[in-house]
Amino acid sequence: MMQKGLWINRGKQIVGPLPGVLVGDVFFFRVELCMIGLHGQVQAGIDYLPAGRSPSGEPIATSIIGDTIIYSGHGGRGRNGQKQFHDQKPAGGNLAMEKSMAYGVEVRVIRGLKCDQSPSGKVYVYDGLYKITDCWAEAGKSGFVVSKFRLLRIENQPKMGSAAIKLAEELKSDILDISGGTENLPISLFNDVDGDDSPLRFNAASAGYDSAAVGGCRCECECSDGCDCAVRNGGELPYDASGVLLRGRPLVYECGRSCSCPETCRNRLTQRGLRSRLEVFRTREMAWGVRPLELIRAGAFVCEFSGVGLTKRQSDWLSMTGDNMIYPNQFPPRWVEWGDISRVCPQYLPPVAPSLPLLDFSMDVSTYRNVACYLRHSRSPNVFMQFVAYGHCVPPHPHLMIFARESIPPLRELSIDYGMGHPEIMSQGECPAKDKHRQRQREFSESSRPTPTSGSSTPRTAEPSPPQSSTIGPLLRAITRSPLT
Ligand SMILES: [Zn+2]
Ligand SMILES: [Zn+2]
Ligand SMILES: [Zn+2]
Repeated sequence: MMQKGLWINRGKQIVGPLPGVLVGDVFFFRVELCMIGLHGQVQAGIDYLPAGRSPSGEPIATSIIGDTIIYSGHGGRGRNGQKQFHDQKPAGGNLAMEKSMAYGVEVRVIRGLKCDQSPSGKVYVYDGLYKITDCWAEAGKSGFVVSKFRLLRIENQPKMGSAAIKLAEELKSDILDISGGTENLPISLFNDVDGDDSPLRFNAASAGYDSAAVGGCRCECECSDGCDCAVRNGGELPYDASGVLLRGRPLVYECGRSCSCPETCRNRLTQRGLRSRLEVFRTREMAWGVRPLELIRAGAFVCEFSGVGLTKRQSDWLSMTGDNMIYPNQFPPRWVEWGDISRVCPQYLPPVAPSLPLLDFSMDVSTYRNVACYLRHSRSPNVFMQFVAYGHCVPPHPHLMIFARESIPPLRELSIDYGMGHPEIMSQGECPAKDKHRQRQREFSESSRPTPTSGSSTPRTAEPSPPQSSTIGPLLRAITRSPLT
């Protein structure tokens, strides 16, 4: 990608915030920092603008990778970076840090944190801009001189990403589960804004993770490229060994009940359910949203969109009576973008097989719903919809599976593109389907203007069943917790 000129913000080394990079963004590999220009050094801890390219003719530090507010300069170590064998000098990055302090230039700070979910056991979190307030030299453990810098975080920035990760870890201890055990991991509820507890009043829709299906492979161990199920997907398994969707497709065929492979087969990814803890939370705009309590890796499975599947005829009838409806054929095909490497390989062609069946059904989420129903709409979403079938038959109702479009840090809201005509920001804590429903109601009322009694003598209402008293206590405790932001 570097040779193709696809590393961005290279050469100009931007000082201060980078466009498109948010405080809290998480990166699994250090080279990703180079690719977007957040930190251009593959190994060195200090990145800087060399004297020859600096307007002042002096080097200026742009970013550092470090774990503490007292930062040790670089240099003086062996190739393995472990042992100090001579004094650090006020040159290169160290001199740039001194000059940045002298001129009051802001420095980007990226912290390295341990992370079990990362293939390298570590992640890099962008913590925002800092000023260097002091620098000095002192003898290090090895006896050689080490340059030291004191850093102070600039005020009025979003909370540090590394702090959000720690807070999310605490929130995971909440025992409330609004899924009522229908998901394999509890779904938390958090509201420190008002007294709305409506997510407790809906019946939990069971995510359709069972693998009822016809046709399958005869693999006795883990499936691999070339097995019948891989062939069904166009010749390759859709997921890698770590559970990342490799490429978006019109439809993914996972192994089903008729397959002889074990439950641990990588091609049963979504059937094993949630992989990260999720929380339904009240936003400052008094809407409901969903956010993870754990880091979600780009391409990872997030959750299924569940409700009551309806035929077109059923949904046509129900949409006249005031229920909430999701129409799968209206989700834009954002799966096309996932795994598209055409900019690196011009000959790359996105998968066109397996073909997508006619999505002639809808999802009623008026009374039965799951966590996905609280996802808010965005035209720059961080998750996308991938249709999935279990086994080899062409399903009339493929599963609506949601995958991460980028690495998503804990406590960052998840958002999805519901398609054309959807308002950018949902309001009043409604299920996204409700706005769509209202739009359809408006269209309908303008075109046909039915009488109030038309359709059915016993119309269903969107009014949910009353909450179970045993679930209110944990909610109240959740409400009284300290604010997050
Ligand atoms: Zn197989
Ligand atoms: Zn399998
Ligand atoms: Zn199979």
